[in-house]
Amino acid sequence: MIRSYQFCISRILVLLCLMLLCASGLLADISIRIRGGASHSLPTRTINGIEYIKLDDLSPIFKSIVKHEPSDHRIFLFIYGEQFIFLQDTPYYTIANANFNMHYPSINYQGNLMVPGLFIKEHLAQRISDKVSRSGNSLLVQAPEDRSVNTIVLDPGHGGRDPGAVGRTLRTPEKTVVLQVSRMLKVMLERELGLRVLMTREDDRFISLGERTRFANENRADLFVSIHANASTNRSASGLETYYLAIRGTSDSRAVEALENNVVELYEEAGARAQYDALAFILSDLSQTEHLDNSSMLASLIHQNMVAGTRWNDRGVNQANFFVLRGAFMPAVLCEIGFISNAEEEARLINPQYQNRIARAIFEGVKRFKFRYDRIRNT
Ligand SMILES: [Zn+2]
Repeated sequence: MIRSYQFCISRILVLLCLMLLCASGLLADISIRIRGGASHSLPTRTINGIEYIKLDDLSPIFKSIVKHEPSDHRIFLFIYGEQFIFLQDTPYYTIANANFNMHYPSINYQGNLMVPGLFIKEHLAQRISDKVSRSGNSLLVQAPEDRSVNTIVLDPGHGGRDPGAVGRTLRTPEKTVVLQVSRMLKVMLERELGLRVLMTREDDRFISLGERTRFANENRADLFVSIHANASTNRSASGLETYYLAIRGTSDSRAVEALENNVVELYEEAGARAQYDALAFILSDLSQTEHLDNSSMLASLIHQNMVAGTRWNDRGVNQANFFVLRGAFMPAVLCEIGFISNAEEEARLINPQYQNRIARAIFEGVKRFKFRYDRIRNT
């Protein structure tokens, strides 16, 4: 009797131990320490005997972004500026065109995208070793970047030997008006949003279209806003238009496109046109594609505010193949702030009060965009 009682107790103890082991298996979080910063614990859970982590749980720690492409079972993870692509239900992923095997599959478990804990513990440290290192059971990682909009490049169109469009009545050059509006906008963005604002030109000088985008890329700008005034042979044409880049030649407006691109033929060095065309496919497909949704959102927000702020004719948000927007590694738009070829609009465009109003309207658009974009990128 006593012996079987003891046997029973020992069995219960063994069972308890087993349960504890299981429980600890379920609760064994991965500890992540940010260099010079806070520690986090990343929850894990065991599914089919394999330790998994939820990709969404990485976002608050790493400021990473997860996207799912259910049509072809791809899962994207953007982390430290790198892009991991998992093929759901397989153990494979790619980074920078190289394939790797995690031995266990990435899964969609009850609507949660999950990867094996092994990916975090081992693969991450191997693939991005300059940012992530493993020490024992925890990871030591670099502080994630602040992905908010901090730097904006304003691009007053034309300048120097290139006057842009010239008003028919008062002979106002586009280059002067757009510089004045850009200067006002710069002050608003600096004072009210605390942004770092750089201008492709601060004065009346010639800068090629390619240099403008390069300047924005080199300064790691988060946004690129090019400011122009429109012109038409039709003197009654009027109003506001905002553009972002058309990819694969679906232009909404060949006329405005030609107007803003012809600086290449008129004022840039011989052979420049061929260079821009050769670069077109490579650059536009690689750089702006990724930002088209955001460029479209930025264009819409700026445009809505310009129309509401001025009550001028609304010519809509359009896509066109502007050389100056190609190759920009950030959301990029081009604003046409009125027709300098229209007598009434030319008079307004040189009026500082109107210039201030249009600058304020563009400012409001950028501000709203920043609010949405920062929330998306930082959560
Ligand atoms: Zn222009």
